[in-house]
Amino acid sequence: MARDHVLETLRDAIGDTPVLTDPDIMAGYVGDWTGRFVGRTAAVVRPANTAGVAAVVEICARHETPLVPQGGNTGLVGGGVPTRGEIVLSLRGLTDTLSVDAAAAQATVGAGVLVSALHAAASAAGLAYGVDLASRDSATVGGTVATNAGGLRVLQHGDTRAQLLGVEAVVGDGSIISHLAGLPRDNTGYHLPSLLAGSEGTLGVVTAVRVRLVPATRARAVGLLGFASVEQAVTAASLLRNGLPALAAAEFMLSPGLDLVIRACHLSRPLRGRHAAYLLIEIADKTGAYAVGSGTAVGGIPGSGTASRNIAGRGITGTGSAGRATVLETLADAVAGLPGVQDASLAGDARGCRALWAYRERHTESISTFGTPVKMDVTLPLAVLPSFVETVPATVTGIAPEARTWLFGHVAEGNVHVNVTGTGGEAEDRRIEDAVFGLVADNGGSISTEHGIGTAKRRWLPLNRSPSEIAAFRRIKQALDPAGILNPNVLLPDAP
Ligand SMILES: Cc1cc2nc3c(=O)[nH]c(=O)nc-3n(C[C@H](O)[C@H](O)[C@H](O)COP(=O)(O)OP(=O)(O)OC[C@H]3O[C@@H](n4cnc5c(N)ncnc54)[C@H](O)[C@@H]3O)c2cc1C
Repeated sequence: MARDHVLETLRDAIGDTPVLTDPDIMAGYVGDWTGRFVGRTAAVVRPANTAGVAAVVEICARHETPLVPQGGNTGLVGGGVPTRGEIVLSLRGLTDTLSVDAAAAQATVGAGVLVSALHAAASAAGLAYGVDLASRDSATVGGTVATNAGGLRVLQHGDTRAQLLGVEAVVGDGSIISHLAGLPRDNTGYHLPSLLAGSEGTLGVVTAVRVRLVPATRARAVGLLGFASVEQAVTAASLLRNGLPALAAAEFMLSPGLDLVIRACHLSRPLRGRHAAYLLIEIADKTGAYAVGSGTAVGGIPGSGTASRNIAGRGITGTGSAGRATVLETLADAVAGLPGVQDASLAGDARGCRALWAYRERHTESISTFGTPVKMDVTLPLAVLPSFVETVPATVTGIAPEARTWLFGHVAEGNVHVNVTGTGGEAEDRRIEDAVFGLVADNGGSISTEHGIGTAKRRWLPLNRSPSEIAAFRRIKQALDPAGILNPNVLLPDAP
């Protein structure tokens, strides 16, 4: 009855159309991308603008009705799922604002705009947006702010928080806070964009942001390198990061994961043999410092139409002018000087680069062919990352003998995505998470690199955050969301 009254009040405030109650339509909003988290809700509310969001939040606060903000629903920790019957506040309708200020190299973006749409708008202005991730065609800008998404370009541009110059949001009493001027130097009090980034919808509903844009990439070259051990791959990544300022990405994969992607996505083998560990690296020319040249690939990149040659027989045919190298020549030189490289494929053309990236980007979908994995995304200090990677599979099979562990990640930042398939059910999943997160904490790592805490990891937050930090988190939440209606079952552990 009370719930019907809330829905009626919502309809009076924002109209009938944005208040969805048809179970068939709502089905797409109550479960997550992985299939691991499925909830239920009385309604999905889709306001079209900030005023509509403010009205919804104010009504929910007045009626003490919890809500779950939701963007593209690509989150991997259950943070956007109404696990306890909350109303879903979908922000996908907030797409009207997307304006690029090329002179300032900034953009103002509505929360519902897709990351790929922001990329396209920035690109049309000769610029780029610094955050990129494989879910770019479904993830919203608001969702990436709420999760402080990382992705493939953190090495070069930092995480989402690092892009934020201003934010507009609706806090828990329905009031709107807005500071979107985008002044690069603005020291007037608390930096609310930093606070809201990574708050996972628990402190406010992001409705728009002002983000910095970066120079567009003029040329790129990508290499896939094979190593005999994870340790050698990690050492190589560190050497590249320290010695190659144009390094834009450094990702690691292991032999079982690469084999799986090849099978699941029907790709050809990128290198002639199998290697224990692989690095996918990219260098990007953003300043025109490199010679223009379409340099051909070496190493047999599928579909690139170029000669297949082992890196040992290197013979890059770039067309760079004397004295300056092309990006591909620079990459080849860097790879040639690296210890431990057993084989490599390099590409300097768009098609070849895309083909090499596919081996890394298609890990997530390939692993999902085994069903819903247990997903953990963790960060380790680089010094212990190789031993962690070697230890985890045995830790998992010690608990679930039939399970498979898939490991890959953003190696330059010490990130490892630990995906486990074929476990014996929820109880076993918990024990695996307990063991892996415990190992991470014992090694001085973080239990969340970039996906956030969500509902999935809240009970393990105390592994990384002290009681006084969690108490401070609760006080901040109380100040911005006094009725406790914004994503009450996310991030913070249940109160003692
Ligand atoms: C194939 C694949 C690859 C991925 N790769 C990466 C990666 O490389 N790096 C990475 O960081 N993540 C990655 N992700 C995870 C996911 O894409 C990100 O977490 C993304 O930021 C979520 O955006 P979304 O719009 O889908 O948000 P949702 O999933 O809808 O929501 C995520 C969280 O943010 C909250 N939220 C959403 N919108 C708002 C808003 N406007 N205001 C307040 N709170 C809000 C939700 O309540 C929830 O807690 C990947 C996911 C997939 C499926």
